[in-house]
Amino acid sequence: MTITLALSKGRIFEETLPLLKAAGIEVTEDPEKSRKLILPTNREDVRVVLVRATDVPTYVQHGGADLGVAGRDVLLEHGGEQLYQPLDLQIAKCRMSVAVREDFDYAAAVRQGSRIRVATKYTQVARQHFADKGVHVDLIKLYGSMELAPLTGLADAIVDLVSTGSTLKANHLVEVEQIMPISSRLVVNQAALKLKRQPIRAIIDAFSTAISSR
Ligand code: ATP
Ligand code: MG
Repeated sequence: MTITLALSKGRIFEETLPLLKAAGIEVTEDPEKSRKLILPTNREDVRVVLVRATDVPTYVQHGGADLGVAGRDVLLEHGGEQLYQPLDLQIAKCRMSVAVREDFDYAAAVRQGSRIRVATKYTQVARQHFADKGVHVDLIKLYGSMELAPLTGLADAIVDLVSTGSTLKANHLVEVEQIMPISSRLVVNQAALKLKRQPIRAIIDAFSTAISSR
């Protein structure tokens, strides 16, 4: 029985490697050098598939992978129904925030009950956040470079991921609200958990031990 793990290239792949190692799994090919989308490991029964970060929940939900690692941001936008999320891996940490141009008075706009134009890739999280606050917003869906929206007049505010804040600063934007902390989670296909219970449990337990001993 082969176990397939879905990872995205970049920080999630890099930060999952030590956890895999703790579970006795070593990826034997470097995704930055190889063009392969399916990477072998030292274990004959374990392979890694490389997918776009936003595609991880889809692969796991429909059984294209048994397990995967995805950001809380991605899981919230996806909906995450039917996905078992046994572990917060405490990796790829950042936060989801509201940011505006330095010269935009966000507090005043909120106080006056103005409609605020918000550009974001995270429309579900943003809609919920502003609804909870009772703030009227027009959401503009973007797929990248949210920082550009307030600078070009496309939007008054953005909802985006922030880690150090240096990208915001470089673009004369300021963080005005933190919506939630973000980290990546292990997600597991429900049917796979039943059919391949023992090997999947072993991976979950090894990850769990590795996380709590950090
Ligand atoms: P791409 O950047 O290739 O368009 P992506 O943004 O979907 O793809 P990553 O940038 O690797 O992929 O982000 C993957 C996950 O890592 C995100 O879903 C989020 O949970 C987390 N993440 C994103 N940006 C940061 C950051 N600056 N610091 C820490 N974690 C982050
Ligand atoms: Mg990115």
